[in-house]
Amino acid sequence: MKKWKNNKGNIKMYDYLVVGAGLYGSVFAHEAKKAGKTVLVIDKRPNIAGNVYTEEVEGIHVHKYGAHIFHTNNKKVWEYITQFAEFNRFTNSPVANYHGELYSLPFNMYTFNKMWGVVTPEEAAAKIEEQKQAAGITEPKNLEEQAISLVGTDIYEKLIKGYTEKQWGRPCDQLPAFIIKRLPVRLTFDNNYFNALYQGIPIGGYTKMVENMLDGIEVRLGIDYFENRDQLDHLANKVIYTGPIDAYFNFSLGTLEYRSVRFKDELLDKPNFQGNAAVNYTDCETPWTRIIEHKWFEFGKDAEGNDLPKTVISREYSSEWKPGDEPYYPVNDEKNSKLYEEYRRLAEKEQNVIFGGRLGEYKYYDMDAVIASALDLCEKELI
Ligand code: UDP
Repeated sequence: MKKWKNNKGNIKMYDYLVVGAGLYGSVFAHEAKKAGKTVLVIDKRPNIAGNVYTEEVEGIHVHKYGAHIFHTNNKKVWEYITQFAEFNRFTNSPVANYHGELYSLPFNMYTFNKMWGVVTPEEAAAKIEEQKQAAGITEPKNLEEQAISLVGTDIYEKLIKGYTEKQWGRPCDQLPAFIIKRLPVRLTFDNNYFNALYQGIPIGGYTKMVENMLDGIEVRLGIDYFENRDQLDHLANKVIYTGPIDAYFNFSLGTLEYRSVRFKDELLDKPNFQGNAAVNYTDCETPWTRIIEHKWFEFGKDAEGNDLPKTVISREYSSEWKPGDEPYYPVNDEKNSKLYEEYRRLAEKEQNVIFGGRLGEYKYYDMDAVIASALDLCEKELI
């Protein structure tokens, strides 16, 4: 390990301290090491990989902090990530369950046919237009209006309203429109949830993939940055901080809101519970938002494919984040975006600290965008 003096005369053991062993931190750490820098990665959890962490249960890779399906249109990111794992050809096609009625997602001709009995794309488009006109929406101002103008009132009521209000804990007319624009609307029979050229799940699980990224890098787990801040800051010339930005500043300007998720995992003594990786419960009465059946993320684990007699399912319950919970989704509404902007200005003034990732930038990032953003930083930082 190299030791040298920084300009204050203190001995620094590392070029970089990376706080958080999730995707952002792991990409940075990997590239920094490759560039000949010394890096220490810490994480307060007992495991690496942040929220993409997977754990093997009865031969099934369980996504412990929520289902993660890698998808991207960014060739550079795809080529980057596939250095660390081979990916299977999983395609996300969730099913919506509304009081026992099943619908295809994303919204496509199968959905429209089941909802209205329409057969052709023209009929479906006309039905959506008729419902949009009836609602009198010209310029959608919030998620509710955006949803109705994209797919009409029936689909909004049965497949969007309940799910979204459970997921975000707020009425749809108080949520930003962009959230629903994540979902494609198609006048074709295509059940692929993502408009992405590249998609899949790393064979062997995400944890193995991140382990490969962190190969040869010093990682200390179970270390809370805030409990050891003074010592840790003295160890490195620069900090790459991927935790919540408001926590970094000790919530001095107020707390940013997050949504948290509680997972209730069950190992079932049956080979097939729901026949699909994800089933969304889109009514407002069912307390969970979705059930994930992890074995269907992988191939060769189906009843015919091999003899796996068991299955693991996770029910997801969405809740408002409170201290002690895991923050998952930033709530990018007006109030929080304004507060984040104030924190960002503070962060800019923080010398030798770089804020990144979903929590560090308070941004509803997908995995590919996190990787792209970490690679951008590497280009600027690791010269
Ligand atoms: N959504 C919905 N019904 C569904 C699935 C999603 O209304 O069955 C809405 C909901 O508002 C959600 C948003 O679409 O927050 C984005 O969904 P996505 O699946 O991208 O969310 P994530 O996988 O990131 O939780």
